[in-house]
Amino acid sequence: MLRDFPLRDLNTWGVGGTCISYDSPRTALEAEESVAEVIRNEEKLFIIGAGSNVLISDGHINAAVIHTERLDSVQPSREEFDKIIRIEAGAGVPVRKLLELSVNEGYEGLEFLTGIPGTLGGALWGNAGAAGHGFNGLIKEADAVDWNGRSFKIGEESFKWGYRTCPVDKSTVALITSCVIYLNSAPKEVIFSNIKKFASLKKDQPLGKKTSGCVFKNPPGMSAGRLLDECGCKGISVGGAVVSNSHANFIENVGDASSQDIYELCELCREIVLKLCGVELEYEINFLGTFKKN
Ligand SMILES: Cc1cc2nc3c(=O)[nH]c(=O)nc-3n(C[C@H](O)[C@H](O)[C@H](O)COP(=O)(O)OP(=O)(O)OC[C@H]3O[C@@H](n4cnc5c(N)ncnc54)[C@H](O)[C@@H]3O)c2cc1C
Repeated sequence: MLRDFPLRDLNTWGVGGTCISYDSPRTALEAEESVAEVIRNEEKLFIIGAGSNVLISDGHINAAVIHTERLDSVQPSREEFDKIIRIEAGAGVPVRKLLELSVNEGYEGLEFLTGIPGTLGGALWGNAGAAGHGFNGLIKEADAVDWNGRSFKIGEESFKWGYRTCPVDKSTVALITSCVIYLNSAPKEVIFSNIKKFASLKKDQPLGKKTSGCVFKNPPGMSAGRLLDECGCKGISVGGAVVSNSHANFIENVGDASSQDIYELCELCREIVLKLCGVELEYEINFLGTFKKN
């Protein structure tokens, strides 16, 4: 466990201060020990995967961070005369790697992960998806550590799937360590054609820039990006944080934005949309630390 650990390199916005402590367990047993230690120390716990859906505040943050990057095992096995593949994967495995595996082996279902830069654990926690597709029906089981630092299994029947909401009970689950995914075999042409469709949905996203994906959830029946665009938010900035000119639901760190700059810009966008459209945007991103409201 490392103390006063800098978090800037652990998130895709490239911002944030230091946390009380940092640990990066390699096994479920080590993850249990890491969680138990944070509980013993009576510290607040925050889990980081790829940090592609989180805003981390500036300065010193009163939390212990567990980073899942080394929970990275992937074990595929074929079942039912190769019609199905079972993949048991650690929570820290990049979803890109799972997508690559499914394409190479000829199994469909993960194409919705095209262009998503997160880990399996982070993607499950936020029920990441695209165009109504996600992990629902694909993840049959997960292993987790509870708030007493003990490992337990989460069966498929316990998942509650909703748009960008956590499907597991946050009051029980401190950390997801691994998941079991089942996929059906499919012709490669079908899989590639699906990937093309999902990739085309992303054509307006500012790829290669420092962002954290969509900042806000889509309100029922509406697109948050379209609302922000119609309200003239594209291009507005606070410090080094700018609303992307290609997709208004993305905020770019164009230089040396502080986390507070990004937060203030997010809040400014929410105020504008509320004032002009009467819609209260809900955050899709997660927050670690404290932020000043103006
Ligand atoms: C360019 C770009 C495009 C994107 N496109 C999409 C998209 O199409 N669809 C979409 O849904 N999202 C998208 N995102 C957002 C993001 O990539 C996803 O939400 C991703 O799945 C988050 O995974 P992560 O590992 O980065 O999670 P993190 O940002 O590290 O964490 C997110 C949340 O999950 C929790 N968490 C992470 N791992 C665990 C774990 N093992 N156990 C318990 N809690 C955990 C964290 O504490 C935090 O609350 C995009 C982001 C970018 C930058």
